[in-house]
Amino acid sequence: MSKICKVLSLTLFFYSVAVAELTTDVYLIRSNYILTMAKGSAEPLDGYIQISKEGLIIDIVEGEPSETLGGTLIDARGKIILPGFVSGHNHLWQSAFRGLASDQELYGWLNSLHWTFGDFFQNGDMYNFTLYGALDQLANGITTTLNHSQNVAPTYDQYLEQFEAEMAAGQHFIFSYVLDENEPSAAIRKSKLLSLIDDTSRRPGPHACLGFGLHGTGIYRDMDFHREEVNLAKELDLDMQIHYLEEKAESFRNGQKKFELMAEKGGLWDGLVYAHFIHVTDKILETSAKAGAKMIWNPLSNGRLASGLADIPRYLSAGLEIGMGVDGSASGDVCDPFQNMRMGMYALRMKDSNAAVMSSIDILRMHTLKTAQVLEVDDRVGSLELGKFADFLIIQPGSPVFDPYSTVVLATSANDIESVWVRGQKIVENRRFPNHDMGAIKNEVARRVARIVSDQTGNN
Ligand SMILES: [Zn+2]
Repeated sequence: MSKICKVLSLTLFFYSVAVAELTTDVYLIRSNYILTMAKGSAEPLDGYIQISKEGLIIDIVEGEPSETLGGTLIDARGKIILPGFVSGHNHLWQSAFRGLASDQELYGWLNSLHWTFGDFFQNGDMYNFTLYGALDQLANGITTTLNHSQNVAPTYDQYLEQFEAEMAAGQHFIFSYVLDENEPSAAIRKSKLLSLIDDTSRRPGPHACLGFGLHGTGIYRDMDFHREEVNLAKELDLDMQIHYLEEKAESFRNGQKKFELMAEKGGLWDGLVYAHFIHVTDKILETSAKAGAKMIWNPLSNGRLASGLADIPRYLSAGLEIGMGVDGSASGDVCDPFQNMRMGMYALRMKDSNAAVMSSIDILRMHTLKTAQVLEVDDRVGSLELGKFADFLIIQPGSPVFDPYSTVVLATSANDIESVWVRGQKIVENRRFPNHDMGAIKNEVARRVARIVSDQTGNN
């Protein structure tokens, strides 16, 4: 875990203890299908989870809870309990632009969205779009997200609305921060990031920020800027995530060639996380794995944009650490981790005509614990284990259960999620939010998108 994540984690824990005592109850969750997703776990636990007032798992054991334990007992026998999904690559603001440019590949789609509408964003747009995106992910069972924030809006203040919206949503998140290229110096860019981190750690909680990373954009703009990003990420011990080798033609035209330049600038280290990483050469794959670089696989988005299929079994054999993401909410387009797992697993099975190429438990672990490991937050989320946040889903299976891992991966949709819990608090129940008016948020998003489209049309 990065130093900043550690500091922030301790600070946030302090606040969460201080405030959560006033707001949460002690729970005991009883189920015969607890899928902890802990490393090496293969059998469902028939037992219970004890959750503290602070929202932490303080016991998770086989058998019946004793009556002396106290707290509110939730009898979920027959239902499946699993950790909330972790999505390692997302652009939450895109939730407002689903279904756009459906016949386009990456660059045509970017042109139809970012480069068409970005200039017409106004104050509050990024906030409302991101809030909607985060809540929508929660309803789909994603309790931790890495928001690969983007500065498509005209001002940096508008960019920072993405951070504030996530703070309001209640979903655990890592904020992937874009350096402000309009600032006159690297020192000012660095001080802006440090002040956001400092400000975040001082806010009363509990709040949802698990830490920060960098969203590297330099390889698409200027390799000196890339070097600045790499140096800053290393200095602050932050991970840096970059889009890399996503679109096929661009990968062969320029992307693969940039690998040597990245390596020359010191950009290949164990803090590097690739998003997509589809069109690799053997050398790029092997060198990356050896350097400890990791990747986030986004099969739903890669299918939608016809980007290609990452050869995951080959990557795993090379020793690459792999997590999963649903990507932006307009190339996802529905942020549904069940659909994401099926898209990925079935594509690999189709390609190889081999059902053994990826199992239900393996892909479920990839979208939970393994993604948390890639993001370096697995000390707090990603599995149901002692001391971690009680971030979990209660699923009402739609049919008799033979193997609960396969019920979740093959036969469950987001509609089967009975409730979503974050830090021991139920924040979604039957797709309804007790703390947010989703109807009003959707109306606000629609109103703002209509204004953007109208302004853009009027400008042409
Ligand atoms: Zn992306």
